[in-house]
Amino acid sequence: MDYQALLEQIAQDVSQLIGSGRTAEYIPALAKVDPRRFGMAVADIDGNVYGVGDWQRPFSTQSITKVFALALALASGGDSLWKHVGREPSGNPFNSLVQLEYENGIPRNPFINAGALVVTDRLQSLTGDASSELLDFLRQESGNPDLAFDPQVAESESTHGDRNAALAHFMASYGNITNPVPTLLDHYFWQCAIEMSCADLALAARFLARHGLRADGSRLLTRSEAKQINAVMLTCGTYDAAGEFAHRVGLPGKSGVGGGIVAVVPGRCTLCVWSPGLDRRGNSVAGVAALDRFTTLTGLSVF
Ligand code: GLU
Repeated sequence: MDYQALLEQIAQDVSQLIGSGRTAEYIPALAKVDPRRFGMAVADIDGNVYGVGDWQRPFSTQSITKVFALALALASGGDSLWKHVGREPSGNPFNSLVQLEYENGIPRNPFINAGALVVTDRLQSLTGDASSELLDFLRQESGNPDLAFDPQVAESESTHGDRNAALAHFMASYGNITNPVPTLLDHYFWQCAIEMSCADLALAARFLARHGLRADGSRLLTRSEAKQINAVMLTCGTYDAAGEFAHRVGLPGKSGVGGGIVAVVPGRCTLCVWSPGLDRRGNSVAGVAALDRFTTLTGLSVF
């Protein structure tokens, strides 16, 4: 397949939508990003990467890192994770508190903020330094040793992090958080503040298209665990619009409020698109449209 020509065609097709939507205003450091940016990259399972637009420009990965933290927590801690977090869509906004009380402090899935806090807490217990483990892993899988945290974004999140602090304390009251909440929040905010480009993310997510195999050929996850992560991405990866995303795109995907979305074609390739203007659910407007065009033009979806 001529991925390069395809990406150029997609960029052309969605050009009218670039700049639509709003940047994430609740994190001031993200609100300032130029909404007219657009980049898209495809990495095939052998590690060849193709891109268009701002595909090499780093942006704030935000919730996309939840996928990688989940993979590391499963790889090092195994299935017992699922006693602490579910795998059903929540039907609520990503930072909602309401369901947690009805469900005794067990978050619905690992991609809402409450669930991601549980995953990071477990990763912290398993490794002693969750955010550095995650950064190291992303550097290795992307082949980019320069990946880094953005301290300004981490600081901005921490200053405006009352909602995440409330979620963490609430779950701690049910015994579902092990580490001190301030330590956990630090690691969670650093995790969200990792900067990567579309090329970096498409390469780093390849283990999901390679049924659990890392870039160096070693095994991170069993085939079954890789399937499980892809399944949770499909059902819960794009906020409270995962049904709409499955309908339009038909691929496992994970979005972040920085405007990035990673998507996986198992056995074939990984994609990452970035454009900071978000719809009211928190997904990139031009990003979803670009992935929609990709699966429509190629027929490459899981359905
Ligand atoms: N750091 C953001 C938060 O915790 C991540 C949100 C997101 O990208 O969904 O609110």
